[in-house]
Amino acid sequence: MRWSKTLLCTLREDPKDAEIVSHKLMMRAGLLVKLEGGLYSYSPLGVRVLHKVEKIVREEMDRAGASEVLFTALQPISLWEESGRAGLMGKSMFRLKDRNENTMVLGPTHEEVATDYLRTLASSYRQLPATIYQIQTKFRDEIRPRFGLMRCKEFVMKDAYSFDIDSDGADESYRKMYDAYLRIFARCGLDAHPVEADTGAIGGNHSHEFMVLAPSGEDGILHCPSCHYAANQERAERKAPPCDWSSPSAAPRAKVATPGAHTVDEAAAALGIASDQVVKSLVYVADGKPVMVLMRGNADLCEPKLRRVLGAAELEMADPETTAKVAGPFGSIGPIGASIPVFADNALREARDMAVGAGEDGYHVAHCNLMDDPDVKIEAWHDLASVVAGDLCPRCGAPLALERGIEVGHVFKLGTKYTKAMGFTVLASNSQPVTPIMGCYGIGVSRTVQAIAEQNNDADGIVWPASVSPYQVALLSLDSKSESCAGAVAQLEEALENAGIDVLVDDRDERPGIKFKDADLIGCTVRVTVGAKSLAKGGAEVRLRKTGETELVPVSQVCEKVKALLAAN
Ligand code: ATP
Ligand code: MG
Repeated sequence: MRWSKTLLCTLREDPKDAEIVSHKLMMRAGLLVKLEGGLYSYSPLGVRVLHKVEKIVREEMDRAGASEVLFTALQPISLWEESGRAGLMGKSMFRLKDRNENTMVLGPTHEEVATDYLRTLASSYRQLPATIYQIQTKFRDEIRPRFGLMRCKEFVMKDAYSFDIDSDGADESYRKMYDAYLRIFARCGLDAHPVEADTGAIGGNHSHEFMVLAPSGEDGILHCPSCHYAANQERAERKAPPCDWSSPSAAPRAKVATPGAHTVDEAAAALGIASDQVVKSLVYVADGKPVMVLMRGNADLCEPKLRRVLGAAELEMADPETTAKVAGPFGSIGPIGASIPVFADNALREARDMAVGAGEDGYHVAHCNLMDDPDVKIEAWHDLASVVAGDLCPRCGAPLALERGIEVGHVFKLGTKYTKAMGFTVLASNSQPVTPIMGCYGIGVSRTVQAIAEQNNDADGIVWPASVSPYQVALLSLDSKSESCAGAVAQLEEALENAGIDVLVDDRDERPGIKFKDADLIGCTVRVTVGAKSLAKGGAEVRLRKTGETELVPVSQVCEKVKALLAAN
């Protein structure tokens, strides 16, 4: 491909709204063009990377025994009503009406459609196991679209669905996809780690996310350097921190004035106790209903854990008015005599001699025993705490480390959640109907493209691994007006293309400095430079983008040299 024939534009400046390095570089290298927040067009360069990642995904899905299908993005809401998820998706699902006033949705994911597809086709256990996949555009009305391709309203996903008649088979299908994911990300030049994950609105009971470690990542990952436990912060567990409940004061419950004490630390100081002896009481509104949550004073609530235990689609902290109405003023909320359901963190089990808000401004209640206080009614105990660096590993007790990551893929064991809700059965060998067990497996294909750029760049631009480089070679023609130079460039272009190597020829009428800068910014794996100078010295300059290593190679040997570099990078 000749640069002069394609509308490729690089930018000198970072776009104002680009916060992370990959977003800046993808825009500056002219891979993406912004339509508006969360909506990006791919340029001829960008779409090539996307297609290369898609090709790797396809090859590995096929190799793992999955069959490619293509569903419609437009879906009837009735399918979501059948599965019971119509409400659960909340505002993140785009809804629209057709001309007959039927409500349709733009698919944010396709568990329902996949289940419907299988129930239309499969009636016997002999047709299972089956794993199907598609690569398709998904739509999500994200609260905060940002970071370019990382969080879009419209993005490309590979989604796969497995159907098995027994749980051993379902485990095997899950393992095949898990292994395929490891191969896909490795082939994309990504260092991606599987971690235990929250199952969110998709449901099911077991899932792993594939995380690309990067300081800009939106997810926190706790991992244990000792036993290699690794989990998303949304789901990570911890060994309950030690707490001395052994010598509680025998003093009876007492209301104490704590004027001006609104935070846990202020209350602890006013009462002369440690902050983990104060109960932090929070009021949330879950799908319109207020609930109270109790945490130890020094722990933070992990909202995704609360959302999961409540099964809520929408969850937010109650505003001061609602809080005051149902639980007392901010800073003095407490569970004694609460009129709303109270949920407590496991770390408060057995808690003795605690201080809680009195439900009245300027007062706390000291010496409260949550477990056996007749005026405290705990609806349920759950693990609700946000795990942080230094908390103890739930498996081996070593201190956990916290890193940030970008979620590029997610695999779930779904069980029979969808097949049961949607009445999909097949006849087993004994002629009895059985409900197939499902798994679902997503890869954010477009997010993966940008994650590769996030992990592979330097001060000059992107450094694409050969497998996904928009063109494997950037061929720079420095003296296009000289016949010998133009001839050598044409000869090299043909030789490389004949060898199956894709080439972007920079034949613009621009200064060499600009061509070098743009080549570095776009980041094709190998750069080949031909100019009057290099030819006079005996050939073309072949340079590896990653290391900058450069070699002068006779024109007739460039192809072999490039092949060797591409194979090794
Ligand atoms: P996240 O936690 O980042 O919102 P998710 O858990 O909602 O992601 P899944 O439903 O598991 O995502 O979707 C499968 C994959 O699709 C994710 O692993 C991610 O790589 C990608 N993905 C999800 N939402 C977006 C988005 N808004 N823009 C781009 N890619 C996305
Ligand atoms: Mg997720």
